[in-house]
Amino acid sequence: MDIIDAELKPRIKLLSTELASQIAAGEVIERPASVLKELLENSIDAGATKIEIQLQRGGVHLVQINDNGIGIVKQDLPLALQQHATSKISNAQDLANINTLGFRGEALASINSVAKLTVTSRAIEATDAWSISADQINPAAHPQGTTITVRDLFYNLPARRKFLRSDRTEYEHVEEVFRRIALSNFAVGFKLFHADKLIKNLPICNDHMAKTRRVATLCGAQLLQDTSTIDAEQNGMRLTGWLGAAQAARSQEPHQYFFINGRVIRDRLINHAIRQVYQPLCELGKMPFYCLYLEIDPETLDVNVHPTKHEVRFRDARIVHAFLTQTIAAALDVKPATETSYIYNDSQLATQKLTTQNIQVLHILTQKVILAIHDNKLLAIDILAARRYLLLQELLRNLTAADLSIPLRAKSVLIDSVESAFAAWCAQLGILIDQTGVNSFLIRALPPALHSVNINTDLFVQILCGLYAQAQTDLHVCCSSLLDAVDFRAAISIPQAEILLHKFEDLPLCAFCKVISVETLLA
Ligand code: ADP
Ligand code: MG
Repeated sequence: MDIIDAELKPRIKLLSTELASQIAAGEVIERPASVLKELLENSIDAGATKIEIQLQRGGVHLVQINDNGIGIVKQDLPLALQQHATSKISNAQDLANINTLGFRGEALASINSVAKLTVTSRAIEATDAWSISADQINPAAHPQGTTITVRDLFYNLPARRKFLRSDRTEYEHVEEVFRRIALSNFAVGFKLFHADKLIKNLPICNDHMAKTRRVATLCGAQLLQDTSTIDAEQNGMRLTGWLGAAQAARSQEPHQYFFINGRVIRDRLINHAIRQVYQPLCELGKMPFYCLYLEIDPETLDVNVHPTKHEVRFRDARIVHAFLTQTIAAALDVKPATETSYIYNDSQLATQKLTTQNIQVLHILTQKVILAIHDNKLLAIDILAARRYLLLQELLRNLTAADLSIPLRAKSVLIDSVESAFAAWCAQLGILIDQTGVNSFLIRALPPALHSVNINTDLFVQILCGLYAQAQTDLHVCCSSLLDAVDFRAAISIPQAEILLHKFEDLPLCAFCKVISVETLLA
């Protein structure tokens, strides 16, 4: 009987407002850097031209920000700390044309529920300043503008606090947020203090020289040495900024920033467009520095995709993609790339063909290079490139769709739905794809060459969308790009290397094979 009673006991309870906002805060406030981001965005939305930031212990102990913006009037102070309270939108129509960084009205409320928050402000038309802290409003002394003080993040949530990293790591995240905001607000002067030391002093930038100086201060002076600037306009879109030279590309994550209407964006379509221009120019695996600004009619964008607002949806992704590849290629003085992957430049090919009978594999170097001897020549063959080349040939030979015994699942944020035009376009590549939910897809058939390889399906669908967005019709380009989603890294043994090289019997050994004559080696 007891057990049955226990089962009948109601178990659903309403959360207290406090607990509910702490949970909601988890979405917005993750660490000191997220606090700083929200506060900086508020200051900028308030029209500030001077912002000063004070941090203690990477921001864990203190994030304080002082601005000279329009301020908050006394009656609004309690509202500013309330969930869903904002001065920035008032109806659904406003959502389509947002020109402020914030609009959800949840940042201050969230911060207030997970840290000790004080807001002090004097509004532009007011003669007195007021301060609010723990629901108490008091008179204060303050010039026009606002100071927001956030102490002891997660003091009341030990479990969350445990997930904070070292002060140094937290500071690095804070610095990244600062860099993004400073790079996208040249009309604002910034000072950043950490542990009472002035770390960055960025005056207002009135001209291109001053902006370039700020970019150099934030991203590293050496980055700017071989940098081209871009300023291009087309179809109501404008792209400006700095593009690093391909030769200066690095394999550690270089600074790469892309802003749309002043907001930093990490978008796959945009990455794809930039990569498409740079990839043939850069050494494999290296990416250049860039800092780019796209201005576009906000009505052609949906930014309300994700709470952290790093993603966008374009009304016409195809036009944006083409605009980016064309203008970036022009600024770098290269022909617009037609291929996203390996370029096999025929004029550079070592056109000699292998008579593979008398080839002998000597050694596998770090699973990357096969060293072989052939006809008194030492060959160094890039394993990944060789496998990729062979797979590409195989794929191009047969693009008929063959059903997969187990369909592959994939997610993509680039497309919402498989339009029939997209499905038809995929079919000509031997790919049958179905939608199974919002952003989730099922690949049902692929060309035979792709059946026994290891595919990153999310990336695969993403590349497909990118190619479709460009209206790419060149099958060679399409197939070659799709191979970016294939993992070619399986370990190789000497006998397997011999089998691999035998497949080159009638194929030219391309750019990925270096031929060194033994005489030169011994000389
Ligand atoms: P949102 O920015 O989405 O409107 P917030 O919780 O970040 O929501 O801020 C709530 C409101 O507080 C804002 O709409 C704005 O009116 C006011 N506010 C916050 N920070 C500032 C500031 N630095 N200067 C002036 N007003 C501010
Ligand atoms: Mg805000």
